[in-house]
Amino acid sequence: MFEKILIANRGEIALRVIRACREMGIRCVAVHSTADSDAMHVRMADESVCIGPPPGADSYLSIPAIISACEISGAQAIHPGYGFLSENARFVQILEDHGLSFIGPTAEHIRIMGDKITAKDTMKALGVPCVPGSEGGVQTLEQAKKIGEQIGYPVIIKATAGGGGRGMKVAKSATDMEHAFMTARAEGKAAFGNDEVYIEKYLTTPRHIEIQVFGDGKGKAVHLGERDCSLQRRHQKVFEEAPGPSILEEQRSAIGKVCADAVAKINYIGAGTIEFLYENGEFYFIEMNTRLQVEHPVTEAIFGVDLVREQIRVAAGEPMSFAQKNLQINGHSIEVRINAEKLPNFAPCPGKISAYHAPGGLGVRMDSALYNGYSIPPFYDSLIGKLIVHGRNRDEALARLSRALSELIIDGIDTTIPLFDALLSEQDIQSGAYNIHWLEHWLDQKSN
Ligand code: ADP
Repeated sequence: MFEKILIANRGEIALRVIRACREMGIRCVAVHSTADSDAMHVRMADESVCIGPPPGADSYLSIPAIISACEISGAQAIHPGYGFLSENARFVQILEDHGLSFIGPTAEHIRIMGDKITAKDTMKALGVPCVPGSEGGVQTLEQAKKIGEQIGYPVIIKATAGGGGRGMKVAKSATDMEHAFMTARAEGKAAFGNDEVYIEKYLTTPRHIEIQVFGDGKGKAVHLGERDCSLQRRHQKVFEEAPGPSILEEQRSAIGKVCADAVAKINYIGAGTIEFLYENGEFYFIEMNTRLQVEHPVTEAIFGVDLVREQIRVAAGEPMSFAQKNLQINGHSIEVRINAEKLPNFAPCPGKISAYHAPGGLGVRMDSALYNGYSIPPFYDSLIGKLIVHGRNRDEALARLSRALSELIIDGIDTTIPLFDALLSEQDIQSGAYNIHWLEHWLDQKSN
């Protein structure tokens, strides 16, 4: 087992990894920018290294700075968290070349899944159901129009290098095609330096259902059920739950087995998430994330496992501590993302925390790097905390969420807490009847 791990991240996810390391008797090294000298992850780690100025590109994304920090501190492995370098194949390749362990999949798997066309081709060949669409990339507008006719409008044009909801355009009919095709290409080029696009059938009322998988890198893999992350604003998740309110046990085991078998076949190592759109009882693959997800705690709650601990174990060459038959769902879990944002426009709202009180009690978990008097720097993501609740069933989890939100105090800045108070009183949220468009429609209605 590793003796020392460096965490190439900040905020709540850095704390999450430090906590797993502590329980495993592993020492941990925090890295930080000059804007984060007094951040909680620096205080909680065994040691810390300053790796550069505030902008992410000069610190948390600087490969030379992070490798130097490993050399200075003697860390043997790096946990990337999510975001930053977590899905950067070049980084993983460089670590491999330096004899450092990456706590995550191989550079090759990251590369395959990082290109959406290659990912889709790979998944299709492994027997995973995909959204109907073009075979690979689409080069010309004529080709795009032909495919639109074949699969039927509406269609969505997606940049193969896209991410974070960018590089995606919907064409409702043939007349929209030219504009949508050109814009998706231009966005792909501008944001990701790659203008290749592909086309998919646009599903009108799907839910976003993702399957958590975990592999040992030696041909063994399991699934840990699904998470429903349909409540999204601008393709960004805000509320996640497991199990999915619309998924039946037979569907879970069937799609779970397809996913576990697929990643087993490619000797996938560590945690991964296979994302689907789900409509009329059918699953359609959209992409795979080769890292730990923000919303992983809801899966941990219902299965009673520590996914970060497992990531560290398999990266160190140890076997997974569970097999499929040991993984039983217990109850229901919900996570809400607390962002430093001002409603109704969700404008980023960094600043000084004048009072912070975390909720507690049975079935409540608050993952946050906040503390009284902390100043949230303006340079990074606006996620400042995740409130996760667990109950014996969905109704109990909802009641617990409402109770926990009432205890949570974050003063001095605006946050998304009032959004969740309002959502919890909605009938559709209480009954679980929502799809990927529900939140945007609801927000539109509220603003009118
Ligand atoms: P990104 O990598 O930018 O997150 P994804 O491919 O994961 O892009 O898609 C993000 C979101 O966009 C999905 O959760 C869904 O809301 C919407 N979306 C993607 N593909 C389709 C599709 N074929 N039909 C309808 N909505 C889609």
